[in-house]
Amino acid sequence: MEIINLEVDFLVVGGGTAGCMAAVKAKQKSPDSSILVLEKANIRRSGAIAMGMDGVNTAVIPGNSTPEQYVREITIANDGILDQSAVHKTGLLGFDVIQELEEWGVKFQKDNEGKYDLKQVHRVGKYVLPMPEGKDLKKILSRQVKRNKIKVINRVMATSVLTQNGRAIGITGLDVRSGDMYVIKSKAILLCTGACGRLGLPASGYLYGTYENPTNAGDGYSMAYQAGAKLSNIECFQINPLIKDYNGPACAYVASPFGAYTANASGNRFISCDYWSGQMMLEVWRELNSGQGPVHLKMYHLDESTISEIETILFDNERPSRERFHAGRGENYRRDGVEMNISEIGLCSGHSASGVQVDEFMRTSIPGLYAAGDMANVPHNYMIGAFVSGRVAAEHAMDYIKDIDHGDVDSDFINTERERLLAPLNNPNGIPHTQVEYKLRRFVNDYLQPPKSPKNMKIGLEKFIDYKNVLDELGARDPHELMRCIEIHFIRDCAEMAAKASLYRTESRWGLYHYRLDFPNRNDEEWMCNTIIKKSLDNNEMTIFKEDLKPYLFDVNLNEEKYDVSVA
Ligand SMILES: Cc1cc2nc3c(=O)[nH]c(=O)nc-3n(C[C@H](O)[C@H](O)[C@H](O)COP(=O)(O)OP(=O)(O)OC[C@H]3O[C@@H](n4cnc5c(N)ncnc54)[C@H](O)[C@@H]3O)c2cc1C
Repeated sequence: MEIINLEVDFLVVGGGTAGCMAAVKAKQKSPDSSILVLEKANIRRSGAIAMGMDGVNTAVIPGNSTPEQYVREITIANDGILDQSAVHKTGLLGFDVIQELEEWGVKFQKDNEGKYDLKQVHRVGKYVLPMPEGKDLKKILSRQVKRNKIKVINRVMATSVLTQNGRAIGITGLDVRSGDMYVIKSKAILLCTGACGRLGLPASGYLYGTYENPTNAGDGYSMAYQAGAKLSNIECFQINPLIKDYNGPACAYVASPFGAYTANASGNRFISCDYWSGQMMLEVWRELNSGQGPVHLKMYHLDESTISEIETILFDNERPSRERFHAGRGENYRRDGVEMNISEIGLCSGHSASGVQVDEFMRTSIPGLYAAGDMANVPHNYMIGAFVSGRVAAEHAMDYIKDIDHGDVDSDFINTERERLLAPLNNPNGIPHTQVEYKLRRFVNDYLQPPKSPKNMKIGLEKFIDYKNVLDELGARDPHELMRCIEIHFIRDCAEMAAKASLYRTESRWGLYHYRLDFPNRNDEEWMCNTIIKKSLDNNEMTIFKEDLKPYLFDVNLNEEKYDVSVA
């Protein structure tokens, strides 16, 4: 197993939504620079939009909404904890992105007059734009990467960020097929490895049957943390309403503009707004625990043509197996509701609000290191936010690298890292990765799943710290299994951060995402701030502290503009 050394100007880690856009924008801005995309899978079909997308959740289209309205909406939806200037970027540049995607061949739903057919799902304002023909989105993106002659290395996962005097200078990686190690020097690095989707264990018990794309195991969260970057509000979990026994959303988001809604066992509506938020999840959780469940997505009251239209969108994009899943159970939307339950917990800024701390240019707290997409803390950013943040990071990075030389890699670090990475291969009869991961994620469910209780979280934190010893006993028989072992290290780091941050914020906020039984109320006086996790570079300990929010761009009175989702 060799060591392969490379040197580039700009390295994009993760060729998903944000990564592909970032690479294209970097090349457009600086055609002579060498740009490399490193992808754990294959960019043609990787990441959250691997099988396409059925709609844009955050389309700020002139004439329908303004960037300012969008920022206000997200400020309220996220209980005031955000950097408005970063969210504003999504509002300002999202329409540009939509138009550019259209030029590339992506189709968005239009009405009879050729105008974007936006739907209202949010509290105010129309931001949801259906994509009934969105199944080839990822193929279209990867084609653009190819057309721009950008170098891509598939099947290599990044394993750590290299730093020198506090600056990011490259990464190490592992070829998941050959086991070769990569040492890549780069003047700037963009991490966009998606959510931490394998934190909790799904109700099905399947390790990879997660809501999120299962290749996204929190790699970027962990690598950024280990390099010394700040992460913020990790206690704000991602929890989604899922189809029971199926690893995909019920899609009230898609169906509600057609008249569908989330209903309890009596068929009655119990939430007033299908916009995904912790508040909405709290309503679902309360209903499920009040004896009024199970809850379901109700479409059976709609007429035939409406149901057929919804089916066309839901069965052809994103999760094409959905049709077969229902057929296998003899279910029909004309007669049956789509039974829902609550997903496993994860970390994700796209749907929620936790991640690597970034500013409006997607700079992390480490010079030369950028983060974009689901792993960068720009609340409720979803797909358009991933495109925008990838673009913003890339364009900024291409300016940053102008006056920068490559750093020097510490060969001692590389030797130690190689030993660490390859250790499970020297122990082929060690504990299989499936067992280690299953147990770790079961602990996450047992001790961190909201509502959160202090004793549980403390036990969880101790277990996650102790679990470091178990990782030493991991065994791998080939590079693929080695990849799984390394992912467990990432997941463990995320679990420790999640427990630590959840214990630290002694209030409840973001609905179910951070609902503490011992502090059930929001406490703006003490907690209208970011909580920051950072590795101490002195003793390698995990530190946590408060940091002020950046001043708002737009004044929002959170008490008056309540995000009221209950109809009780
Ligand atoms: C089920 C589901 C439904 C959704 N529905 C909608 C919707 O309807 N509308 C909407 O607007 N948004 C939706 N979203 C959100 C949207 O898809 C995401 O916010 C967005 O795609 C995230 O982009 P990203 O680039 O951060 O991550 P991804 O697109 O997931 O890309 C991450 C990439 O990093 C790679 N990677 C991971 N680790 C490593 C590593 N160590 N080294 C190298 N590569 C690595 C992965 O293989 C992947 O290709 C949905 C998301 C999901 C999961």
